[in-house]
Amino acid sequence: MFDSVKKELSRRALLYKAGFGFMGLSVVGAVGNIIKPAPTLAQAAPAPSNEPSLPPEKKLGWAIVGLGEFATKQIMPSFAECKKSKLVALVSGDRAKAEKYAQQYSVNPKNIYNYQNYDSIRNNPEVDIIYIILPNALHAEYSIRGVQAGKHIMCEKPMAITVAECQAMIEAAKKANRKLMIAYRAQYEPYNLATIQLAQSGKLGKLKLITSDHGRNLNPKEPQDRWRAQKKLAGGGSLYDIGIYSLQAARYITGEEPVAISAMIYSTPNDPRFREVEENVNFVLRFPSGVLANCSSSYGYSNTKRIQVFGSDAVLELDPATDYYKHRLILKSKNGNQEQKIEDKNQFALEIDHLSESIIQNKQPKTPGEEGLQDVKLMQLIYEAARTGKTIKV
Ligand code: NDP
Repeated sequence: MFDSVKKELSRRALLYKAGFGFMGLSVVGAVGNIIKPAPTLAQAAPAPSNEPSLPPEKKLGWAIVGLGEFATKQIMPSFAECKKSKLVALVSGDRAKAEKYAQQYSVNPKNIYNYQNYDSIRNNPEVDIIYIILPNALHAEYSIRGVQAGKHIMCEKPMAITVAECQAMIEAAKKANRKLMIAYRAQYEPYNLATIQLAQSGKLGKLKLITSDHGRNLNPKEPQDRWRAQKKLAGGGSLYDIGIYSLQAARYITGEEPVAISAMIYSTPNDPRFREVEENVNFVLRFPSGVLANCSSSYGYSNTKRIQVFGSDAVLELDPATDYYKHRLILKSKNGNQEQKIEDKNQFALEIDHLSESIIQNKQPKTPGEEGLQDVKLMQLIYEAARTGKTIKV
């Protein structure tokens, strides 16, 4: 784990112990040559939003399914910053771990479930929403069982392994009249929203090109990377796991759907990490407006989460683009390089509250099942383009 992330986690732990809750996260950028330094940690702490928190009894109750790395380090702590959502139940295959977290987050032990008695969550009126944070291959089954138990669903990305599974999830949610949202956190994160706004406002001139690169080194010594190296549980390799952020970026920045796709895949021969899943995927998308996107995804290059938007008059550089805590946005034009200072907010709390709000208001969430289905469809076409060496018309 990066030192900065470790420091941030220990800062959160200290704040939590000191009774401050979690104060949101911040930008601590390196000082560039031309640009101004990013704000300090203290300056970047979010100003309290004007919108008041709902009283505890009015907040919607959430159950977390799968108490792994992401659930326990990012999602569960973020409930302290939620205004419409509270953590009330845990679903885990490890009772002792669930009890430990139940105590830490004041979850009533009667609200601990396992994968066998999961369906009995239907009898628990405290639970409104179930958040699926399991290995990819289990998303469909637990989402479908969840809606059939009468609960709304937040499901992690990628939505599922196959197009058919995604369609079954959407159908099941419709049939049960429950909401299904895919946890595309970047679409709730202020720096990414500012990038979309700037790109679509005409400020960059005519949009020409988007590049987006998402990669890291897969490390199967870590439990969370063990299943990622297994095709049966992960569904795909770097593309399904992090290349999906490059694909998402191209789609949400243009606001368009690609009409043509080409791609190339390469995995280092004899690297045991890539016996079942791919290492590198480079893909090119063409959008109806003529914008091209050059995207990459890797399980072999050093940690990168970067988006660039090239217009006829200016260029935007968002790097890190889709980190948990750090973002940095630079506008490059004939006036020089200007860092865009944006109030950093806890994107996890924002997306969690978005689903609660959508349920309270009975509105379609911004990233519904159909959004997850579209990415799985496109990722399958990316694999096909790489396999056949042909440009595929969508
Ligand atoms: P972990 O391996 O850390 O957690 C997965 C958890 O699922 C396990 O701890 C375990 O919880 C449970 N589980 C149930 N069955 C299995 C199984 N057969 N093998 C392994 N675990 C199992 O993974 P992550 O937390 O990194 O990822 C989980 C999901 O979250 C993935 O879909 C991933 O794509 C997504 N994710 C999203 C991120 C984002 O930024 N939006 C970031 C990271 C991950 P228990 O012991 O409680 O049963």
